[in-house]
Amino acid sequence: MAANISINPSSSIRDVTKMERIGAHSHIHGLGLDANLEPRASSQGMIGQGKARKAAGVILRMIQDGRIAGRSILIAGPPSTGKTAIAMGMAQTLGADVPFVMLTASEVFSLEMSKTESLTQAFRRAIGVRIKEETELIEGEVVEIQVDRSVTGSTKTGRLTLKTTDMETVYDLGSKMIDQLQKEKVLAGDVVSIDKASGRISKLGRSYGRAKDYDAMGADTRFVACPDGELQTRKEVVHTVSLHEIDVINSRTQGFLALFAGDTGEIKPELRDQINSKVAEWREEGKAEIVPGVLFIDEVHMLDIECFSFLNRALEGELAPLVVMASNRGITRIRGTKYKSPHGIPVDLLDRMLIISTRKYDATETKEIVKIRAEEEDVKLVPDALDLLAQMGLQTSLRYALNLIAPSQLLATRRKTPNVEVEDVRMAYKYFCDVERSAQYAKETSGMMFGEEELVASVNGV
Ligand code: ATP
Repeated sequence: MAANISINPSSSIRDVTKMERIGAHSHIHGLGLDANLEPRASSQGMIGQGKARKAAGVILRMIQDGRIAGRSILIAGPPSTGKTAIAMGMAQTLGADVPFVMLTASEVFSLEMSKTESLTQAFRRAIGVRIKEETELIEGEVVEIQVDRSVTGSTKTGRLTLKTTDMETVYDLGSKMIDQLQKEKVLAGDVVSIDKASGRISKLGRSYGRAKDYDAMGADTRFVACPDGELQTRKEVVHTVSLHEIDVINSRTQGFLALFAGDTGEIKPELRDQINSKVAEWREEGKAEIVPGVLFIDEVHMLDIECFSFLNRALEGELAPLVVMASNRGITRIRGTKYKSPHGIPVDLLDRMLIISTRKYDATETKEIVKIRAEEEDVKLVPDALDLLAQMGLQTSLRYALNLIAPSQLLATRRKTPNVEVEDVRMAYKYFCDVERSAQYAKETSGMMFGEEELVASVNGV
């Protein structure tokens, strides 16, 4: 089994990961920091919360410098103060092939698998394995050829970029190349074109260090190793899969389809050990690289003491992602114990975390966030409607105001007006309660609705 570990699930799995990133936070494209990690007032969809954004940026810089992995961060603050948005911003900054896994703590409690298995899977989903594979060239592709500079009179290895649409030219070039390169005084790194009929090479310019040249060629630039001046029709393709994907593909007869069904079941620890050693082997051979990603655990106060002990241990492991946790609770009970602690997290775990705090938004920031969200949802708000929504955001919660944008637009459409006006927002406010009004309603109807005790009694058939 270990000798024959497969790795290629299909690129669409990555698309599923991307899909998870859109929605409530689709306007967030990064942390909105400048090169010195100073927060810009409004950038990449981010407004305000400067201190927290800067702190997140410092952590990212440490990750990028390879100085931090397997660490944990806590983002603590009142509801709708951008804790998730900041985690999203971190993920966006890290780049597209860096895994970002989002988990709500209550998801860990399921009947299908144990809590620790569920956390282990989340950990492994957040570790990417960047794998290099060699594949055949396809006709019509733009290729980059690596030549040994000794061919062109120097001793260093360099690159020659060429564009061809004809496979035969590529093959022919193998034999003609040395002559052509010398005749045209082509140096490694030059961009050249090839005349299909004659196979003649003409210099277009230097490409070394000028990535733009590749872009201008519209090139899906590939590499063809050519150490002795001899052309090889193979190229290197890099793709990233997660450790969890590798686990699943190798643990089920139905292979990667289990990933789409979501029914991955429990994975045997022996299999994970085998995969870990195989990946270590690939790393040694230069075939693979580990890309530690981010595991975001929202509502972390919902985890219990068993989960926290697991996290404490797992964070020590060699293959641990950056774990970002978020909580909007103050002092609360640690689930599974009778003890209270800040954010419901055991103090020993809390002690090893870097803690970032978020604060409530002021009127200007709230208005700006509502405005950005409306633009993102393609909703045109007249200025008064924007003011009203912002005011609601301040008085109730930011999330409530953001949630009213779409229904307000629907109501405006029903009235056949292109823009959302105050009247539409007012109607939406009437139809949908905020938390406070809902709580008030619960109080008023306490005799008619189930309370906790009645609910337990009804479940027990009492
Ligand atoms: P909770 O504690 O309730 O889970 P949270 O702190 O995680 O809340 P978010 O979900 O990040 O809050 O924020 C609520 C909404 O407001 C989201 O749509 C988010 O993208 C947006 N938002 C929050 N803060 C900012 C910000 N600083 N800039 C832009 N948008 C923001």
